[in-house]
Amino acid sequence: VSREEWVASVNETLQRAGHLRSSPRERVLRALAHADGPVSAQELEDQLRSANSVSRATIYHALELLDRHELVFRLDLGDGHARYLPADPTQTPPHFLLCQRCRSLFALPTVELDSAIQRDALRLGVAINPGPLVLHGLCAPCLAASPGA
Ligand SMILES: [Zn+2]
Repeated sequence: VSREEWVASVNETLQRAGHLRSSPRERVLRALAHADGPVSAQELEDQLRSANSVSRATIYHALELLDRHELVFRLDLGDGHARYLPADPTQTPPHFLLCQRCRSLFALPTVELDSAIQRDALRLGVAINPGPLVLHGLCAPCLAASPGA
């Protein structure tokens, strides 16, 4: 689904769950939908502070609501600041490489990982929810700069 379709479907889901539509939350949704990658609450706040007045509480509340309704994926990068990205049920969730040297986060366009995970789940007789994985290692520039590479 497109970014705007995601915003529309989230509004619909939340309304059906009894949450009244609010324009500050709508701005949070739009910012999240149009972000280049996973964003933290702080990054959303920085972005929304300049354009419109959306309070920090609104941002945290909106993210918590989206998380509770499984409308976003929440990434833990181990730095105490969760990153969020839209959960699109029509698409395989992206996976990420967190560079342990420069701390940059890169989307990994893997094609084999999800099918391997689902094959393993079947073999083990378990169910594994699709969701983004954060893998740790070195990005290409850091790998090139590291001794012995
Ligand atoms: Zn790096």
